[in-house]
Amino acid sequence: MSIELTSITKTYGAQKAVDSVTFSAQKGQIVGFLGPNGAGKSTTMKILTGYLKPTEGTVFVNGVDVVTNPVEAQKKIGYLPEHNPLYLDMYVREYLQFRASVYHVEKSAVTDVIEKVGLTAEAHKKIKQLSKGYRQRVGLAAAILHNPEVLILDEPTTGLDPNQLVEIRQLIKELGKDKTVLLSTHIMQEVEAVCDRVILINKGVLVVDKTLEELKTSEKQVIQVTFDYKIEEQFIKQLPNISYFKNTSENNWTLEFESTEDMRPKIFDFAQENGLKILGLHSENKNLENLFQELTK
Ligand code: ADP
Ligand code: MG
Repeated sequence: MSIELTSITKTYGAQKAVDSVTFSAQKGQIVGFLGPNGAGKSTTMKILTGYLKPTEGTVFVNGVDVVTNPVEAQKKIGYLPEHNPLYLDMYVREYLQFRASVYHVEKSAVTDVIEKVGLTAEAHKKIKQLSKGYRQRVGLAAAILHNPEVLILDEPTTGLDPNQLVEIRQLIKELGKDKTVLLSTHIMQEVEAVCDRVILINKGVLVVDKTLEELKTSEKQVIQVTFDYKIEEQFIKQLPNISYFKNTSENNWTLEFESTEDMRPKIFDFAQENGLKILGLHSENKNLENLFQELTK
């Protein structure tokens, strides 16, 4: 495993910002770290990169203990912090050369990285002359200079316009092919666009850890239906793919289906076959988007 967090807790005074979080990730994975503002994403990432000590728990990056050996671990980690701190008065190439010297990386790496992130045409410009999207590229370039195996990107797309968003996401996907990437975001759609796995954190607690594939198949269809008669459970049980049902009041039922197919026509058929009339029908999908909305209310 290239990233391994076990029972990580971080308290600030009386507040638990991160509460016993455990997860791991391996090479080739782009993991979306999703959560509303204040969920504990940045705190977890700072712990993962060795810039903050956890109150409890252990962190390993490529087998190196980040808490006891942060310098060694940081050689394996590229980190783009939340607000991408840059020296605005420096030229792009000059800044990256400076970062290369900090990392003890050959200067030739700078040209390679500039090309890789698509900064060749801007390399001679001052960072302050660049748009937000290009500044993010500088941040990404700095993060990958020492060719780390793990990339920790804290909200890399926040504040970008739609075109820049597409470009940076593409770049991250490209970089993620031979690295482990943990990318935080509070945008659900971003996870679908870039990641192959999602970890959802809320109030410091990990609530979902699934691959995108698992999420798609775990979608549930919830249908509220009102018949014109009170009917027996044994009838309801005969509905295809039904996974849960509840008689919420007299003629009202909440039905859940494990199916990606729209079950409403099936319910109409069922009603007709049993001589029932449908007085009301309401359908919703319970997916990650709904869960996220419930959490962020
Ligand atoms: P996120 O990145 O998901 O928005 P953070 O990890 O930044 O969340 O913050 C999690 C919680 O911890 C928030 O309630 C935040 O106010 C609090 N917090 C973060 N940093 C500090 C700090 N240095 N001192 C005190 N509280 C903090
Ligand atoms: Mg944050």
